[in-house]
Amino acid sequence: MSTFAVSALLEASAGLAVQVNEQGHIVAASLKSADVLEYSRDSLLQCRLADLVTGQDQDHFLRAFHLAWEHGSASTQPLQFSKGLTGSAWLELRLVVLNTEGAASLVVYGQDVTAWKQNTDELSREILRDPLTGLGNRLMVREELQLAIERTQSQNTHIAVAILDLDGFKKINDSLGHDIGDELLRQISKRLKAAVREHDIVSRVGGDEFVIVLPNLSTEKEARSVATRILTTIQQPIPLAGHQLQMSTSIGLALYPQHGSSEADLMKNADAAMYRAKEQGKNAYCVYNSEIGIQKEHALAMELSMFQAIRNGEFDLHYQPICRAMTREVIAVESLMRWTHDEQDVPPAEFIRLAEENGLIHLLGGWALRTAAMQLSQWDSVGLRLDYLTVNVSPVQFLHPGFPATVYKAVQDSGIEPHRLVLEITEGALIRDPKKTEAVFEELKAFGVKFAIDDFGTGYSNLRNLKRFPLTSLKVDRSFVSEVCESSNDQAIVSLILLLAKELGLTIVAEGVETEAQLSFLVERGCTYIQGWLVSRALPPHVLEERIHSGKLKLGS
Ligand code: C2E
Ligand code: CA
Ligand code: CA
Repeated sequence: MSTFAVSALLEASAGLAVQVNEQGHIVAASLKSADVLEYSRDSLLQCRLADLVTGQDQDHFLRAFHLAWEHGSASTQPLQFSKGLTGSAWLELRLVVLNTEGAASLVVYGQDVTAWKQNTDELSREILRDPLTGLGNRLMVREELQLAIERTQSQNTHIAVAILDLDGFKKINDSLGHDIGDELLRQISKRLKAAVREHDIVSRVGGDEFVIVLPNLSTEKEARSVATRILTTIQQPIPLAGHQLQMSTSIGLALYPQHGSSEADLMKNADAAMYRAKEQGKNAYCVYNSEIGIQKEHALAMELSMFQAIRNGEFDLHYQPICRAMTREVIAVESLMRWTHDEQDVPPAEFIRLAEENGLIHLLGGWALRTAAMQLSQWDSVGLRLDYLTVNVSPVQFLHPGFPATVYKAVQDSGIEPHRLVLEITEGALIRDPKKTEAVFEELKAFGVKFAIDDFGTGYSNLRNLKRFPLTSLKVDRSFVSEVCESSNDQAIVSLILLLAKELGLTIVAEGVETEAQLSFLVERGCTYIQGWLVSRALPPHVLEERIHSGKLKLGS
Protein backbone atom coordinates (compact mmCIF):
# COMPACT_ATOMS: atom_id res chain seq x y z
CA MET A 1 0.00 0.00 0.00
CA SER A 2 1.34 3.43 -0.88
CA THR A 3 1.84 6.20 1.66
CA PHE A 4 -0.87 8.11 -0.12
CA ALA A 5 -3.33 5.24 0.19
CA VAL A 6 -2.53 4.93 3.90
CA SER A 7 -3.19 8.58 4.53
CA ALA A 8 -6.51 8.34 2.68
CA LEU A 9 -7.35 5.34 4.82
CA LEU A 10 -6.56 7.30 7.97
CA GLU A 11 -8.56 10.32 6.91
CA ALA A 12 -11.58 8.15 6.17
CA SER A 13 -11.85 7.15 9.81
CA ALA A 14 -14.23 9.07 12.06
CA GLY A 15 -12.14 8.68 15.21
CA LEU A 16 -8.48 8.54 16.04
CA ALA A 17 -6.44 7.02 13.21
CA VAL A 18 -2.64 6.97 13.33
CA GLN A 19 0.11 4.95 11.75
CA VAL A 20 2.96 3.87 14.03
CA ASN A 21 6.26 2.15 13.29
CA GLU A 22 7.77 -0.82 14.99
CA GLN A 23 9.26 1.39 17.71
CA GLY A 24 5.83 2.78 18.42
CA HIS A 25 6.48 6.26 17.00
CA ILE A 26 3.57 7.94 15.26
CA VAL A 27 4.51 8.37 11.62
CA ALA A 28 1.19 9.56 10.23
CA ALA A 29 -2.00 10.89 11.80
CA SER A 30 -5.35 11.97 10.45
CA LEU A 31 -6.58 15.51 10.97
CA LYS A 32 -9.42 14.10 13.04
CA SER A 33 -6.88 12.48 15.41
CA ALA A 34 -5.60 15.93 16.23
CA ASP A 35 -9.18 16.92 17.17
CA VAL A 36 -9.80 13.84 19.23
CA LEU A 37 -6.75 14.34 21.42
CA GLU A 38 -6.57 18.14 21.15
CA TYR A 39 -2.95 18.14 20.01
CA SER A 40 -1.66 19.59 16.71
CA ARG A 41 -0.85 17.01 14.10
CA ASP A 42 2.81 18.10 14.30
CA SER A 43 3.03 17.35 17.99
CA LEU A 44 1.42 13.96 17.43
CA LEU A 45 4.09 13.15 14.88
CA GLN A 46 6.78 13.73 17.51
CA CYS A 47 5.40 11.24 20.03
CA ARG A 48 5.29 7.56 20.63
CA LEU A 49 1.65 6.52 20.85
CA ALA A 50 2.33 4.85 24.21
CA ASP A 51 3.36 8.24 25.65
CA LEU A 52 -0.18 9.50 25.13
CA VAL A 53 -1.68 6.68 27.14
CA THR A 54 -1.93 7.53 30.87
CA GLY A 55 0.08 5.67 33.49
CA GLN A 56 -2.02 2.72 34.61
CA ASP A 57 -3.20 1.92 31.07
CA GLN A 58 0.23 1.88 29.39
CA ASP A 59 0.75 -1.79 30.19
CA HIS A 60 -2.54 -2.68 28.52
CA PHE A 61 -1.56 -0.69 25.48
CA LEU A 62 1.87 -2.26 25.16
CA ARG A 63 0.41 -5.73 25.48
CA ALA A 64 -1.99 -5.02 22.61
CA PHE A 65 0.83 -3.42 20.62
CA HIS A 66 2.98 -6.58 20.82
CA LEU A 67 0.02 -8.85 20.22
CA ALA A 68 -0.86 -6.97 17.04
CA TRP A 69 2.67 -7.34 15.67
CA GLU A 70 2.56 -11.02 16.46
CA HIS A 71 -0.93 -11.84 15.16
CA GLY A 72 -1.62 -9.08 12.65
CA SER A 73 -4.29 -7.38 14.74
CA ALA A 74 -5.47 -6.73 18.29
CA SER A 75 -7.99 -4.65 20.17
CA THR A 76 -8.28 -3.16 23.64
CA GLN A 77 -10.72 -2.21 26.36
CA PRO A 78 -11.20 1.55 26.72
CA LEU A 79 -7.81 3.10 27.58
CA GLN A 80 -7.29 6.50 29.07
CA PHE A 81 -5.37 8.98 26.87
CA SER A 82 -4.21 12.42 27.81
CA LYS A 83 -6.11 15.03 25.92
CA GLY A 84 -4.82 18.57 25.39
CA LEU A 85 -2.99 20.00 28.38
CA THR A 86 -5.09 18.78 31.24
CA GLY A 87 -7.93 16.61 29.97
CA SER A 88 -8.33 12.95 29.20
CA ALA A 89 -10.25 10.84 26.73
CA TRP A 90 -11.21 7.16 26.76
CA LEU A 91 -10.46 5.34 23.51
CA GLU A 92 -11.18 1.79 22.52
CA LEU A 93 -8.38 0.75 20.14
CA ARG A 94 -8.17 -1.55 17.17
CA LEU A 95 -4.63 -2.20 15.91
CA VAL A 96 -4.01 -3.61 12.43
CA VAL A 97 -0.67 -4.40 10.77
CA LEU A 98 -0.27 -3.02 7.24
CA ASN A 99 2.35 -3.57 4.60
CA THR A 100 3.28 -0.16 3.25
CA GLU A 101 5.80 -0.07 0.45
CA GLY A 102 7.54 -3.22 1.59
CA ALA A 103 7.80 -2.22 5.30
CA ALA A 104 5.31 -3.29 7.93
CA SER A 105 3.61 -0.65 10.03
CA LEU A 106 0.66 -0.54 12.37
CA VAL A 107 -2.52 1.41 11.92
CA VAL A 108 -4.27 2.21 15.17
CA TYR A 109 -7.93 3.22 15.15
CA GLY A 110 -9.45 4.64 18.29
CA GLN A 111 -13.11 5.13 19.00
CA ASP A 112 -13.80 7.84 21.56
CA VAL A 113 -15.96 6.23 24.27
CA THR A 114 -15.41 8.94 26.89
CA ALA A 115 -19.07 9.85 27.27
CA TRP A 116 -20.14 6.21 27.55
CA LYS A 117 -17.32 5.42 29.97
CA GLN A 118 -18.18 8.37 32.24
CA ASN A 119 -21.76 7.30 32.18
CA THR A 120 -21.07 3.72 33.20
CA ASP A 121 -18.57 4.82 35.84
CA GLU A 122 -21.13 7.20 37.28
CA LEU A 123 -23.72 4.43 37.20
CA SER A 124 -21.54 1.92 38.97
CA ARG A 125 -20.69 4.55 41.56
CA GLU A 126 -24.41 5.19 42.00
CA ILE A 127 -25.11 1.52 42.44
CA LEU A 128 -22.59 1.35 45.26
CA ARG A 129 -23.55 4.60 46.95
CA ASP A 130 -26.13 5.56 49.52
CA PRO A 131 -27.79 8.66 48.07
CA LEU A 132 -28.78 10.13 51.44
CA THR A 133 -25.36 10.25 53.07
CA GLY A 134 -23.00 9.78 50.13
CA LEU A 135 -21.44 6.81 51.96
CA GLY A 136 -21.10 3.40 50.35
CA ASN A 137 -24.04 1.04 50.61
CA ARG A 138 -24.37 -2.63 51.50
CA LEU A 139 -23.18 -3.82 48.09
CA MET A 140 -20.09 -1.66 48.30
CA VAL A 141 -19.13 -2.66 51.81
CA ARG A 142 -19.53 -6.36 51.03
CA GLU A 143 -17.30 -5.99 48.02
CA GLU A 144 -14.71 -4.01 50.00
CA LEU A 145 -14.77 -6.53 52.82
CA GLN A 146 -14.23 -9.34 50.32
CA LEU A 147 -11.24 -7.48 48.86
CA ALA A 148 -9.83 -6.78 52.30
CA ILE A 149 -10.08 -10.49 53.16
CA GLU A 150 -8.19 -11.41 49.98
CA ARG A 151 -5.45 -8.89 50.73
CA THR A 152 -5.15 -9.96 54.36
CA GLN A 153 -4.73 -13.66 53.63
CA SER A 154 -1.00 -13.31 53.07
CA GLN A 155 -0.50 -10.95 56.00
CA ASN A 156 -0.59 -11.40 59.71
CA THR A 157 -3.16 -8.68 60.37
CA HIS A 158 -6.82 -8.56 61.38
CA ILE A 159 -9.89 -6.97 59.90
CA ALA A 160 -12.73 -5.79 62.11
CA VAL A 161 -16.30 -5.51 60.91
CA ALA A 162 -18.44 -3.20 63.02
CA ILE A 163 -22.20 -3.14 62.59
CA LEU A 164 -23.91 -0.16 64.21
CA ASP A 165 -27.57 0.39 64.82
CA LEU A 166 -28.71 3.69 66.29
CA ASP A 167 -30.71 3.35 69.49
CA GLY A 168 -34.24 4.71 69.32
CA PHE A 169 -33.85 6.29 65.90
CA LYS A 170 -37.32 5.23 64.89
CA LYS A 171 -38.86 7.28 67.65
CA ILE A 172 -37.09 10.39 66.46
CA ASN A 173 -38.06 9.75 62.89
CA ASP A 174 -41.66 9.17 63.85
CA SER A 175 -42.01 12.07 66.24
CA LEU A 176 -39.86 14.79 64.64
CA GLY A 177 -40.42 13.85 61.02
CA HIS A 178 -38.42 12.27 58.25
CA ASP A 179 -36.59 15.44 57.23
CA ILE A 180 -35.02 15.72 60.64
CA GLY A 181 -34.40 11.99 60.64
CA ASP A 182 -32.56 12.30 57.32
CA GLU A 183 -30.48 15.22 58.49
CA LEU A 184 -29.62 13.32 61.65
CA LEU A 185 -28.36 10.40 59.56
CA ARG A 186 -26.18 12.75 57.52
CA GLN A 187 -24.65 14.27 60.63
CA ILE A 188 -24.02 10.85 62.12
CA SER A 189 -22.37 9.74 58.86
CA LYS A 190 -19.97 12.68 59.08
CA ARG A 191 -19.11 11.86 62.66
CA LEU A 192 -18.48 8.23 61.81
CA LYS A 193 -16.16 9.15 58.97
CA ALA A 194 -14.28 11.52 61.25
CA ALA A 195 -13.93 8.84 63.92
CA VAL A 196 -12.05 6.33 61.75
CA ARG A 197 -8.87 6.27 59.65
CA GLU A 198 -8.96 7.42 56.07
CA HIS A 199 -8.77 3.96 54.54
CA ASP A 200 -11.45 2.48 56.79
CA ILE A 201 -14.71 1.93 54.99
CA VAL A 202 -17.88 3.50 56.36
CA SER A 203 -21.16 2.54 54.77
CA ARG A 204 -24.86 2.86 55.46
CA VAL A 205 -26.59 -0.41 54.82
CA GLY A 206 -30.17 0.32 55.85
CA GLY A 207 -32.36 2.84 57.67
CA ASP A 208 -30.25 3.55 60.72
CA GLU A 209 -27.72 0.78 60.29
CA PHE A 210 -24.08 1.36 59.40
CA VAL A 211 -21.22 -1.01 58.68
CA ILE A 212 -17.59 -0.03 59.16
CA VAL A 213 -14.73 -2.19 57.91
CA LEU A 214 -11.40 -1.63 59.64
CA PRO A 215 -8.63 -3.40 57.74
CA ASN A 216 -4.98 -3.78 58.83
CA LEU A 217 -5.45 -4.02 62.57
CA SER A 218 -2.70 -5.67 64.54
CA THR A 219 -4.76 -6.45 67.66
CA GLU A 220 -8.36 -6.84 68.77
CA LYS A 221 -7.68 -4.02 71.20
CA GLU A 222 -7.48 -1.54 68.33
CA ALA A 223 -10.97 -2.53 67.20
CA ARG A 224 -12.25 -2.06 70.73
CA SER A 225 -10.78 1.40 71.01
CA VAL A 226 -12.35 2.44 67.70
CA ALA A 227 -15.70 1.17 68.97
CA THR A 228 -15.32 3.21 72.16
CA ARG A 229 -14.44 6.28 70.13
CA ILE A 230 -17.54 5.82 67.98
CA LEU A 231 -19.78 5.46 71.04
CA THR A 232 -18.37 8.71 72.40
CA THR A 233 -18.73 10.75 69.21
CA ILE A 234 -22.29 9.60 68.66
CA GLN A 235 -23.20 10.61 72.21
CA GLN A 236 -22.23 14.25 71.75
CA PRO A 237 -25.43 16.35 71.48
CA ILE A 238 -26.53 17.03 67.92
CA PRO A 239 -28.15 20.45 67.36
CA LEU A 240 -30.96 20.00 64.85
CA ALA A 241 -33.90 22.25 64.02
CA GLY A 242 -34.00 23.80 67.46
CA HIS A 243 -33.58 20.50 69.30
CA GLN A 244 -30.51 19.15 71.04
CA LEU A 245 -30.72 15.51 70.11
CA GLN A 246 -28.92 12.99 72.24
CA MET A 247 -28.24 9.81 70.35
CA SER A 248 -26.53 6.55 71.11
CA THR A 249 -25.71 3.45 69.16
CA SER A 250 -25.17 -0.26 69.69
CA ILE A 251 -22.19 -1.84 67.99
CA GLY A 252 -21.41 -5.45 67.15
CA LEU A 253 -17.82 -6.39 66.29
CA ALA A 254 -16.54 -9.46 64.46
CA LEU A 255 -12.89 -9.97 63.58
CA TYR A 256 -11.16 -11.71 60.72
CA PRO A 257 -9.88 -14.38 60.92
CA GLN A 258 -10.95 -15.41 64.44
CA HIS A 259 -14.74 -14.89 64.07
CA GLY A 260 -15.23 -15.94 60.48
CA SER A 261 -13.28 -16.48 57.31
CA SER A 262 -15.84 -15.24 54.80
CA GLU A 263 -17.49 -11.92 54.27
CA ALA A 264 -20.93 -13.47 54.90
CA ASP A 265 -19.88 -15.07 58.21
CA LEU A 266 -18.27 -11.88 59.47
CA MET A 267 -21.35 -9.82 58.67
CA LYS A 268 -23.65 -12.39 60.25
CA ASN A 269 -21.59 -12.62 63.44
CA ALA A 270 -21.13 -8.87 63.77
CA ASP A 271 -24.91 -8.60 63.46
CA ALA A 272 -25.47 -11.18 66.21
CA ALA A 273 -23.02 -9.27 68.43
CA MET A 274 -24.88 -6.03 67.72
CA TYR A 275 -28.15 -7.60 68.88
CA ARG A 276 -26.38 -8.71 72.00
CA ALA A 277 -25.23 -5.13 72.62
CA LYS A 278 -28.85 -4.00 72.27
CA GLU A 279 -30.06 -6.65 74.69
CA GLN A 280 -27.44 -5.63 77.21
CA GLY A 281 -28.93 -2.17 77.43
CA LYS A 282 -27.74 -0.39 74.26
CA ASN A 283 -25.18 2.40 73.97
CA ALA A 284 -22.44 -0.24 74.08
CA TYR A 285 -20.35 -2.43 71.87
CA CYS A 286 -20.07 -6.18 72.00
CA VAL A 287 -17.42 -8.41 70.43
CA TYR A 288 -18.67 -11.64 68.89
CA ASN A 289 -17.96 -14.87 70.77
CA SER A 290 -19.10 -18.42 70.36
CA GLU A 291 -21.65 -18.07 73.14
CA ILE A 292 -23.49 -15.47 71.09
CA GLY A 293 -23.50 -17.96 68.24
CA ILE A 294 -25.08 -20.54 70.52
CA GLN A 295 -27.73 -18.06 71.70
CA LYS A 296 -28.58 -17.27 68.14
CA GLU A 297 -29.02 -20.99 67.53
CA HIS A 298 -31.23 -20.98 70.60
CA ALA A 299 -33.41 -18.25 69.07
CA LEU A 300 -33.66 -20.27 65.88
CA ALA A 301 -34.56 -23.41 67.79
CA MET A 302 -37.14 -21.41 69.72
CA GLU A 303 -38.65 -20.18 66.49
CA LEU A 304 -39.02 -23.73 65.31
CA SER A 305 -40.59 -24.82 68.62
CA MET A 306 -43.00 -21.95 68.32
CA PHE A 307 -44.43 -23.29 65.08
CA GLN A 308 -44.91 -26.65 66.73
CA ALA A 309 -46.22 -25.10 69.95
CA ILE A 310 -49.05 -23.39 68.14
CA ARG A 311 -50.01 -26.71 66.64
CA ASN A 312 -49.65 -28.57 69.95
CA GLY A 313 -51.67 -26.02 71.89
CA GLU A 314 -48.82 -25.04 74.23
CA PHE A 315 -50.11 -21.45 74.37
CA ASP A 316 -52.65 -20.34 76.97
CA LEU A 317 -54.38 -17.16 77.96
CA HIS A 318 -54.42 -15.98 81.55
CA TYR A 319 -56.67 -13.18 82.74
CA GLN A 320 -55.75 -10.36 85.08
CA PRO A 321 -58.59 -8.49 86.81
CA ILE A 322 -59.13 -4.79 86.15
CA CYS A 323 -60.76 -3.34 89.26
CA ARG A 324 -62.44 -0.26 90.66
CA ALA A 325 -59.74 1.52 92.61
CA MET A 326 -61.96 2.40 95.58
CA THR A 327 -63.65 -0.97 96.11
CA ARG A 328 -61.32 -3.44 94.32
CA GLU A 329 -64.33 -4.93 92.55
CA VAL A 330 -63.48 -6.72 89.33
CA ILE A 331 -65.15 -5.09 86.34
CA ALA A 332 -63.09 -6.47 83.48
CA VAL A 333 -60.02 -8.58 82.67
CA GLU A 334 -56.93 -8.25 80.51
CA SER A 335 -55.93 -11.38 78.64
CA LEU A 336 -52.21 -12.17 78.77
CA MET A 337 -50.56 -14.87 76.76
CA ARG A 338 -48.58 -17.67 78.38
CA TRP A 339 -46.28 -20.23 76.80
CA THR A 340 -45.04 -23.24 78.71
CA HIS A 341 -42.29 -24.90 76.75
CA ASP A 342 -40.34 -27.91 78.06
CA GLU A 343 -42.04 -27.31 81.41
CA GLN A 344 -40.68 -23.79 81.58
CA ASP A 345 -42.56 -20.54 81.22
CA VAL A 346 -41.15 -18.45 78.41
CA PRO A 347 -41.56 -14.74 79.27
CA PRO A 348 -44.21 -13.14 77.00
CA ALA A 349 -41.94 -10.19 76.23
CA GLU A 350 -39.46 -12.66 74.74
CA PHE A 351 -41.79 -14.81 72.66
CA ILE A 352 -43.95 -11.91 71.50
CA ARG A 353 -40.87 -10.15 70.13
CA LEU A 354 -39.79 -13.33 68.41
CA ALA A 355 -43.27 -13.84 66.97
CA GLU A 356 -43.25 -10.28 65.67
CA GLU A 357 -39.96 -10.94 63.96
CA ASN A 358 -40.92 -14.23 62.37
CA GLY A 359 -44.47 -13.28 61.46
CA LEU A 360 -46.13 -15.84 63.74
CA ILE A 361 -47.73 -12.98 65.66
CA HIS A 362 -50.58 -12.89 63.14
CA LEU A 363 -51.43 -16.48 63.87
CA LEU A 364 -50.89 -16.18 67.62
CA GLY A 365 -52.68 -12.84 67.88
CA GLY A 366 -55.63 -14.19 65.90
CA TRP A 367 -55.78 -17.18 68.19
CA ALA A 368 -55.70 -14.91 71.29
CA LEU A 369 -58.57 -12.76 69.97
CA ARG A 370 -60.75 -15.80 69.30
CA THR A 371 -59.95 -17.54 72.56
CA ALA A 372 -60.53 -14.42 74.64
CA ALA A 373 -63.82 -13.58 72.95
CA MET A 374 -65.03 -17.17 73.44
CA GLN A 375 -64.01 -17.02 77.10
CA LEU A 376 -66.01 -13.86 77.71
CA SER A 377 -69.03 -15.42 76.09
CA GLN A 378 -68.57 -18.60 78.11
CA TRP A 379 -68.38 -16.59 81.37
CA ASP A 380 -71.57 -14.78 80.32
CA SER A 381 -73.28 -18.13 79.98
CA VAL A 382 -72.38 -19.16 83.55
CA GLY A 383 -73.44 -15.83 84.98
CA LEU A 384 -69.97 -14.43 85.52
CA ARG A 385 -70.62 -11.06 83.97
CA LEU A 386 -67.71 -8.73 83.13
CA ASP A 387 -68.11 -5.33 81.50
CA TYR A 388 -65.41 -6.04 78.97
CA LEU A 389 -62.27 -7.97 78.21
CA THR A 390 -59.04 -6.63 76.74
CA VAL A 391 -56.66 -8.25 74.29
CA ASN A 392 -53.16 -6.94 73.60
CA VAL A 393 -52.48 -6.23 69.95
CA SER A 394 -48.96 -5.83 68.69
CA PRO A 395 -48.33 -2.97 66.24
CA VAL A 396 -47.21 -5.40 63.53
CA GLN A 397 -50.44 -7.30 63.90
CA PHE A 398 -52.59 -4.16 63.95
CA LEU A 399 -51.27 -2.94 60.61
CA HIS A 400 -51.65 -6.30 58.90
CA PRO A 401 -54.32 -6.09 56.15
CA GLY A 402 -56.17 -9.13 57.50
CA PHE A 403 -56.47 -7.75 61.03
CA PRO A 404 -59.98 -6.19 60.96
CA ALA A 405 -61.41 -9.37 59.46
CA THR A 406 -59.82 -11.44 62.26
CA VAL A 407 -61.49 -9.16 64.81
CA TYR A 408 -64.96 -9.39 63.17
CA LYS A 409 -64.74 -13.11 62.97
CA ALA A 410 -63.69 -13.52 66.60
CA VAL A 411 -66.52 -11.28 67.80
CA GLN A 412 -69.17 -12.79 65.54
CA ASP A 413 -68.27 -16.40 66.24
CA SER A 414 -68.34 -15.82 69.99
CA GLY A 415 -71.58 -13.83 69.90
CA ILE A 416 -70.38 -11.07 72.27
CA GLU A 417 -71.29 -7.43 71.65
CA PRO A 418 -68.39 -5.73 69.86
CA HIS A 419 -68.05 -2.91 72.43
CA ARG A 420 -67.13 -5.48 75.09
CA LEU A 421 -63.93 -6.26 73.28
CA VAL A 422 -61.21 -3.72 74.03
CA LEU A 423 -57.99 -3.83 72.05
CA GLU A 424 -54.86 -2.65 73.88
CA ILE A 425 -52.45 -0.81 71.65
CA THR A 426 -49.26 0.99 72.61
CA GLU A 427 -48.59 4.59 71.69
CA GLY A 428 -45.83 3.41 69.41
CA ALA A 429 -48.40 1.67 67.24
CA LEU A 430 -50.26 4.96 66.74
CA ILE A 431 -47.27 6.83 65.39
CA ARG A 432 -45.72 4.06 63.36
CA ASP A 433 -47.91 4.72 60.32
CA PRO A 434 -50.54 7.28 61.39
CA LYS A 435 -52.51 7.26 58.14
CA LYS A 436 -52.89 3.53 57.95
CA THR A 437 -53.50 3.33 61.68
CA GLU A 438 -56.35 5.80 61.43
CA ALA A 439 -57.92 3.85 58.59
CA VAL A 440 -57.84 0.63 60.64
CA PHE A 441 -59.32 2.52 63.60
CA GLU A 442 -62.12 3.90 61.46
CA GLU A 443 -62.98 0.48 60.18
CA LEU A 444 -63.01 -1.11 63.61
CA LYS A 445 -64.79 1.86 65.18
CA ALA A 446 -67.64 1.40 62.71
CA PHE A 447 -67.82 -2.21 63.80
CA GLY A 448 -68.01 -1.17 67.44
CA VAL A 449 -64.92 -2.54 69.18
CA LYS A 450 -63.10 -0.22 71.61
CA PHE A 451 -59.49 0.62 72.28
CA ALA A 452 -57.19 1.30 75.21
CA ILE A 453 -53.76 2.88 75.01
CA ASP A 454 -51.31 0.56 76.70
CA ASP A 455 -48.11 1.53 78.54
CA PHE A 456 -49.26 5.14 78.44
CA GLY A 457 -46.62 7.76 79.19
CA THR A 458 -43.69 5.89 77.71
CA GLY A 459 -44.17 7.09 74.14
CA TYR A 460 -44.39 10.45 72.55
CA SER A 461 -48.03 10.87 71.75
CA ASN A 462 -49.79 14.12 72.29
CA LEU A 463 -52.72 13.51 74.58
CA ARG A 464 -54.99 15.84 72.68
CA ASN A 465 -54.32 13.95 69.47
CA LEU A 466 -55.89 10.95 71.07
CA LYS A 467 -59.30 12.57 70.83
CA ARG A 468 -59.92 11.27 67.38
CA PHE A 469 -59.50 7.63 68.35
CA PRO A 470 -62.40 5.58 69.79
CA LEU A 471 -60.69 5.04 73.12
CA THR A 472 -62.19 3.87 76.37
CA SER A 473 -59.13 4.10 78.54
CA LEU A 474 -55.51 4.95 78.99
CA LYS A 475 -53.38 2.48 80.89
CA VAL A 476 -50.70 4.30 82.86
CA ASP A 477 -47.46 2.40 82.48
CA ARG A 478 -46.26 0.34 85.40
CA SER A 479 -42.94 2.20 85.50
CA PHE A 480 -44.68 5.37 86.77
CA VAL A 481 -46.86 3.54 89.24
CA SER A 482 -44.02 1.55 90.77
CA GLU A 483 -42.25 4.68 92.06
CA VAL A 484 -45.22 6.92 92.50
CA CYS A 485 -44.71 7.07 96.25
CA GLU A 486 -41.02 7.95 96.07
CA SER A 487 -40.55 9.95 92.91
CA SER A 488 -42.09 13.42 92.78
CA ASN A 489 -41.46 13.36 89.06
CA ASP A 490 -43.67 10.28 88.64
CA GLN A 491 -46.27 11.81 90.95
CA ALA A 492 -46.44 14.84 88.69
CA ILE A 493 -46.71 12.72 85.55
CA VAL A 494 -49.45 10.52 86.95
CA SER A 495 -51.40 13.54 88.23
CA LEU A 496 -51.11 15.25 84.87
CA ILE A 497 -52.28 12.20 82.97
CA LEU A 498 -55.26 11.93 85.30
CA LEU A 499 -56.22 15.56 84.77
CA LEU A 500 -55.93 15.44 81.01
CA ALA A 501 -57.77 12.15 80.78
CA LYS A 502 -60.67 13.68 82.68
CA GLU A 503 -60.73 16.54 80.22
CA LEU A 504 -60.88 14.06 77.34
CA GLY A 505 -63.53 11.92 78.97
CA LEU A 506 -61.28 8.87 79.18
CA THR A 507 -60.96 6.50 82.08
CA ILE A 508 -57.56 5.70 83.51
CA VAL A 509 -56.35 2.27 84.46
CA ALA A 510 -53.19 2.34 86.53
CA GLU A 511 -51.10 -0.75 85.81
CA GLY A 512 -48.84 -2.68 88.12
CA VAL A 513 -50.27 -1.57 91.47
CA GLU A 514 -48.44 -3.64 94.05
CA THR A 515 -48.80 -1.79 97.35
CA GLU A 516 -51.47 -0.17 99.48
CA ALA A 517 -49.50 3.07 99.44
CA GLN A 518 -49.57 3.19 95.63
CA LEU A 519 -53.28 2.50 95.68
CA SER A 520 -53.97 5.28 98.22
CA PHE A 521 -52.04 7.79 96.19
CA LEU A 522 -53.96 6.84 93.03
CA VAL A 523 -57.37 6.92 94.72
CA GLU A 524 -56.57 10.30 96.23
CA ARG A 525 -55.74 11.69 92.79
CA GLY A 526 -58.99 10.43 91.34
CA CYS A 527 -57.81 7.34 89.48
CA THR A 528 -60.87 5.13 88.97
CA TYR A 529 -59.42 1.80 87.87
CA ILE A 530 -56.39 -0.24 88.75
CA GLN A 531 -54.73 -3.47 87.82
CA GLY A 532 -51.90 -5.15 89.66
CA TRP A 533 -50.61 -7.83 91.94
CA LEU A 534 -52.09 -6.05 94.96
CA VAL A 535 -55.47 -7.37 93.84
CA SER A 536 -54.52 -10.28 91.62
CA ARG A 537 -51.99 -11.66 89.19
CA ALA A 538 -53.06 -12.94 85.77
CA LEU A 539 -54.83 -16.26 86.39
CA PRO A 540 -55.90 -19.26 84.34
CA PRO A 541 -59.65 -18.99 83.62
CA HIS A 542 -60.76 -21.73 86.03
CA VAL A 543 -58.70 -20.23 88.88
CA LEU A 544 -60.27 -16.83 88.26
CA GLU A 545 -63.73 -18.43 88.40
CA GLU A 546 -62.87 -20.19 91.65
CA ARG A 547 -61.64 -16.98 93.28
CA ILE A 548 -64.83 -15.23 92.31
CA HIS A 549 -67.00 -18.06 93.55
CA SER A 550 -65.11 -18.25 96.81
CA GLY A 551 -65.38 -14.49 97.27
CA LYS A 552 -61.62 -13.87 97.19
CA LEU A 553 -62.34 -11.62 94.25
CA LYS A 554 -65.50 -9.53 94.14
CA LEU A 555 -67.37 -8.96 90.93
CA GLY A 556 -68.38 -5.36 90.36
CA SER A 557 -70.55 -5.38 87.27
P1 C2E B 1 -48.57 -5.45 79.20
O1 C2E B 1 -49.64 -5.45 78.19
O2 C2E B 1 -48.13 -4.13 79.74
O3 C2E B 1 -49.03 -6.39 80.34
C1 C2E B 1 -48.88 -6.12 81.69
C2 C2E B 1 -47.73 -6.87 82.23
O4 C2E B 1 -47.49 -6.50 83.56
C3 C2E B 1 -47.99 -8.38 82.27
O5 C2E B 1 -46.76 -9.03 82.04
C4 C2E B 1 -48.48 -8.57 83.70
O6 C2E B 1 -48.31 -9.89 84.15
C5 C2E B 1 -47.56 -7.63 84.42
N1 C2E B 1 -48.14 -7.16 85.68
C6 C2E B 1 -49.43 -6.96 85.98
N2 C2E B 1 -49.54 -6.47 87.24
C7 C2E B 1 -48.30 -6.36 87.74
C8 C2E B 1 -47.77 -5.91 88.99
O7 C2E B 1 -48.47 -5.52 89.91
N3 C2E B 1 -46.42 -5.93 89.12
C9 C2E B 1 -45.61 -6.37 88.15
N4 C2E B 1 -44.30 -6.36 88.37
N5 C2E B 1 -46.07 -6.80 86.96
C10 C2E B 1 -47.41 -6.78 86.75
P2 C2E B 1 -46.62 -10.24 81.10
O8 C2E B 1 -47.81 -11.12 81.21
O9 C2E B 1 -45.27 -10.80 81.33
O10 C2E B 1 -46.68 -9.60 79.67
C11 C2E B 1 -45.66 -8.78 79.22
C12 C2E B 1 -46.04 -8.10 77.94
O11 C2E B 1 -46.18 -9.04 76.89
C13 C2E B 1 -47.39 -7.41 78.01
O12 C2E B 1 -47.25 -6.17 78.63
C14 C2E B 1 -47.71 -7.29 76.55
O13 C2E B 1 -47.04 -6.21 75.98
C15 C2E B 1 -47.13 -8.57 75.99
N6 C2E B 1 -48.23 -9.53 75.82
C16 C2E B 1 -48.76 -10.40 76.70
N7 C2E B 1 -49.77 -11.09 76.13
C17 C2E B 1 -49.89 -10.64 74.86
C18 C2E B 1 -50.75 -10.95 73.76
O14 C2E B 1 -51.67 -11.77 73.84
N8 C2E B 1 -50.54 -10.27 72.60
C19 C2E B 1 -49.57 -9.33 72.47
N9 C2E B 1 -49.41 -8.70 71.28
N10 C2E B 1 -48.76 -9.00 73.49
C20 C2E B 1 -48.91 -9.64 74.68
CA1 CA C 1 -51.52 -4.64 78.08
CA1 CA D 1 -49.10 -2.26 79.85
